[in-house]
Amino acid sequence: MANASSDPLVLIVEDEPAQLEVLTYNLSSEGFRLAHAADGEEALLLTQETQPDLIILDWMLPNLSGIEVCRRLRARPETRHIPIIMLTARGEETDRVRGLETGADDYIVKPYSVNELIARVRAMLRRTRPGGVGELLEFGDIRLDPEQHKVTRAGKAVKLGPTEYRLLTTFMEKPARVWSRDQLLDRVWGRDTYVDLRTVDVHVGRLRKALNRNGSRDPIRTVRGAGYSLDIED
Ligand code: CA
Repeated sequence: MANASSDPLVLIVEDEPAQLEVLTYNLSSEGFRLAHAADGEEALLLTQETQPDLIILDWMLPNLSGIEVCRRLRARPETRHIPIIMLTARGEETDRVRGLETGADDYIVKPYSVNELIARVRAMLRRTRPGGVGELLEFGDIRLDPEQHKVTRAGKAVKLGPTEYRLLTTFMEKPARVWSRDQLLDRVWGRDTYVDLRTVDVHVGRLRKALNRNGSRDPIRTVRGAGYSLDIED
């Protein structure tokens, strides 16, 4: 069964064919879409091209090491946010620390259990992409169902355009967090598109209007000089 385009995309960076085969088989049968790079340069290129939701990165790679790949991904604004799980045969504490300092989010020592790896992948995606694994998001009387791409408020359907939908998802993933316009621009529009900061205000305005259509209390707080937050004050 082919995995749907809404399934999380995992980039596997691994040069050993046997390791790759095990990962490919298990991750695709768990419903992930996959991309594969056999060395560091290819990994950097594919990350730019495909914007994966998560990267499984082998430490020992030909030419460019996993650590170097990690460092470069973290240095670029457009790839900085992508979670990275590092794979390595080294179990030394200093290497572990070095890996995490370079910017890896998690670390698994070979030989590892595939089940453990999958559990870590899922946990990481839940943290960084709560909508992506089909979890219902709730805030007050607002519900967002990422599987059905539906939003309701007090049980009534709320119609949103794609940008307002992504904005609301971002807000609902971290209620009460104050987002600057720049951060929202990054998250919702992506770094590579040129969008004026005013555009953020326009779409937040539209989202507000759609959510408050039935005279409900405004859940979006404007934080003067800082940005916006999903936050109902009692
Ligand atoms: Ca390797």
